[in-house]
Amino acid sequence: MLSTTARLLAGLGDLAALSTRGPGLCEVCRGWGAGALCAACIARYAAPQPRCGRCGLRLVQPAPACGECLRAAPPWRHTVCVADYGYPWDRLIAAFKFEGRVELAAALAARLVEAGRAAAAPLPQALVAVPLAPARLAERGYDQAWELARRAARGLGLAAPVAALQRPLDGSHQADLGRAERLRNLRRAFLVDPAQRSAIRGRSVGLVDDVLTTGATAREATEALLRAGAAAVDIWVVARTPA
Ligand SMILES: [Zn+2]
Ligand SMILES: [Zn+2]
Repeated sequence: MLSTTARLLAGLGDLAALSTRGPGLCEVCRGWGAGALCAACIARYAAPQPRCGRCGLRLVQPAPACGECLRAAPPWRHTVCVADYGYPWDRLIAAFKFEGRVELAAALAARLVEAGRAAAAPLPQALVAVPLAPARLAERGYDQAWELARRAARGLGLAAPVAALQRPLDGSHQADLGRAERLRNLRRAFLVDPAQRSAIRGRSVGLVDDVLTTGATAREATEALLRAGAAAVDIWVVARTPA
């Protein structure tokens, strides 16, 4: 009898834990909503903004390319992004990446699919995730870009993301480094798995990551995919760091 009561109480504890961070509570305003973000917060924080079609940089008016992209065009064709990297996306992405909140992938990937469908560019034929360095993956237990990519693929009606990119080298925490040092670390950081080349060759690929900042990682990964025969690469990120 006692053990039954103890089990019942433990069960109630689980329910209480579920309700404080449960599926119906908006992560941003704590109001009730479907999924981790309510409709009001989606309308407020994920509204499309005028951007550079090439790199996703926020502009006063939408343009196919910003000044920087006109000076030195990135190797990818187009950038799909949900919002600027700022409130509340910085907080949501940090919770998703560093606090084990892997379930936030669903709400973030859903926004990414909406942004991709609203974009002027054609939808990619395959998605590829920017892989986490092996040491980071061991530390975190999941790969955030893969978690986004597999949900976005499902949302787009595509097959599962292609596990094409490999990251054999292990860099330092990129956030701690300057741009030149990041570029040095990333040199030949990505390889395409020969067994996955047929899934890439001749196809347009959406390269999925959480944030696009300097574009150094995206550039390396894009060039690896193009070398492997991808017809075109588009960047698909939740957040774009503003200028
Ligand atoms: Zn809300
Ligand atoms: Zn641009």
